[in-house]
Amino acid sequence: MVKAVVGACWGDEGKGKITDMLAADADIVVRFQGGANAGHTIVNDYGKFALHLLPSGSFNQNVTNMIGNGVALDIPQLIKEIEDVEAQGVPRPKIVVSERAQVLMPYHRLFDAYEEERLSDRQFGSTKSGIAPFFSDKFSKIGFQVWELFEEDRLREKIKNVIEVKNLMLEHIYHKPLIDENELYETCKQYGEMIKPYVIDSVQYMHNALKEGKTVLLEGQLGSLKDPDFGIYPMTTSSSTLAGYGSIGACIPPYEIKEIITVVKAYSSAVGAGAFVSEIFGSEADELRRRGGDGGEFGVTTGRPRRMGWFDCVASRYGCRVQGTTAVAFTVLDVLGYLDEIPVCVGYEVDGEVTRDFPTTGRLERAKPVYKVLPGWKTDIRGIKSYDELPENCRNYIEFIEKELEVPIKIVSNGPARNDIIMR
Ligand code: GDP
Repeated sequence: MVKAVVGACWGDEGKGKITDMLAADADIVVRFQGGANAGHTIVNDYGKFALHLLPSGSFNQNVTNMIGNGVALDIPQLIKEIEDVEAQGVPRPKIVVSERAQVLMPYHRLFDAYEEERLSDRQFGSTKSGIAPFFSDKFSKIGFQVWELFEEDRLREKIKNVIEVKNLMLEHIYHKPLIDENELYETCKQYGEMIKPYVIDSVQYMHNALKEGKTVLLEGQLGSLKDPDFGIYPMTTSSSTLAGYGSIGACIPPYEIKEIITVVKAYSSAVGAGAFVSEIFGSEADELRRRGGDGGEFGVTTGRPRRMGWFDCVASRYGCRVQGTTAVAFTVLDVLGYLDEIPVCVGYEVDGEVTRDFPTTGRLERAKPVYKVLPGWKTDIRGIKSYDELPENCRNYIEFIEKELEVPIKIVSNGPARNDIIMR
């Protein structure tokens, strides 16, 4: 049985918390795409954690956490995160890493930063974690799969070939220091030593796990609108953020993914550049940012303030649709308790016409939000455990959005902690 937990919009919907909660019933939690470029915040009995690469099942001793082949594997970052959670008193998580995952190289980070520098005011707002150069190399077939770290002669030869072109770019395009072949080889050997204890044949592993009836949770990073095919291209990430990609990035037969739980936040936030129709500014945005999430809406990886906005039905419905959502987890609802009235974006006005369908990027950038204003509930809903106890206006807000999303909201999250959850 395979379930996916994925995001509907720009990311930061609270997927980490929902995965951490659902991990209690899972045997395996898998990261199947992305890299260390985004983060999950998890609050549980051990404390508060910012994870970038570690799967959110890492706090549960019954769970094996897998880094699937679809991930950009930043080896020092992964090892650091394992050490950090242990240092905070968490028992050593069970981790396995696919031998087919590709290795994020130190030069990927550099190229990411250099390219943003070159683009200057046209930059993508990259987290500079090396993700775009990494995936470019993967599909240009000059990436390194984990197993290659262990084949010394081959590795040396390949490094030589790969850095030839990298150094040409460094010299002539970016005017930056060149990569030293021997140094890179030594780094790769170190990476090999670091990752060796975790490496498995993930195809075989997953095949056996499913045959034995294990419960697998696929943990998505970012959200639908950052998907390179269906998102706000080119202001997207470089690997698919969709549940369907779990089939590739974790090697799971597509028909095994039975539940797709899409996490939808009760208001909007985004990091990086790109269209954001229901974005708000000034003191209105500052207040929502300050009250948002758990201690404010600031990036887990970069610490930069997130862009804020009202709930966007057009984007969220589309985001749920492209995921193939079977149920929605509606999060961070408690944060809205301070508002008298809550605007919700129900349509986009594009070129003089109102649409409910999410357009391609050109039209999206011209879209103006059409709002419907719903009454607030003006109380703190944290601590409430049953749906019926929520204030009427709060239930009306949920039910209005559920109708707009066209998929059932089965989980409501009313606080950052693991047990701040209302099941419907
Ligand atoms: P993710 O990347 O989708 O896991 O999201 P982030 O971790 O970046 O952002 C979610 C933030 O909201 C974190 O700080 C969570 O602790 C917090 N959070 C999650 N669910 C809730 C909730 O229901 N209420 C509040 N107030 N905070 C929440």
